[in-house]
Amino acid sequence: MSLDELFTEIILDHYQHPHNHGLIPNPTFSSRGYNESCGDDIQVSVLIRDGVIADAKFSGAGCSISQASASIMTDLIKGKTVDEARQIAGRFYEMVKGTEGDYGEEMGDAISLQGVSKFPVRVKCATLAWHTLEEALAKGDHER
Ligand code: ZN
Repeated sequence: MSLDELFTEIILDHYQHPHNHGLIPNPTFSSRGYNESCGDDIQVSVLIRDGVIADAKFSGAGCSISQASASIMTDLIKGKTVDEARQIAGRFYEMVKGTEGDYGEEMGDAISLQGVSKFPVRVKCATLAWHTLEEALAKGDHER
């Protein structure tokens, strides 16, 4: 598998036409993450109502992998509970680390990032948005 093959149509489409791009005006939580090895810089904001992620957006700049991953992630976590979003993040880390498993429907377009596991340097790009999301959600933990 070459690096070119990693850039599937799904990844390129999310990069060129990102979903949920922007900032939520009054987010419940937000966080900003950097990936120094690549220069990716992502801000993730979430709006939580009754324990459910009612809205999620991202902004910032970075490589196609980091931006596509953020676009896919915000699609996946909308409508999920905070705990469900964390479970999906955990599954995503397993997947891009190359852990064998059945990553089915629950992962949606994130499946297209499975090939990142072959390129350890790019794993940081793929997981940046997810780690930033977890940081944002962790800000709510003391309120429980
Ligand atoms: Zn990157």
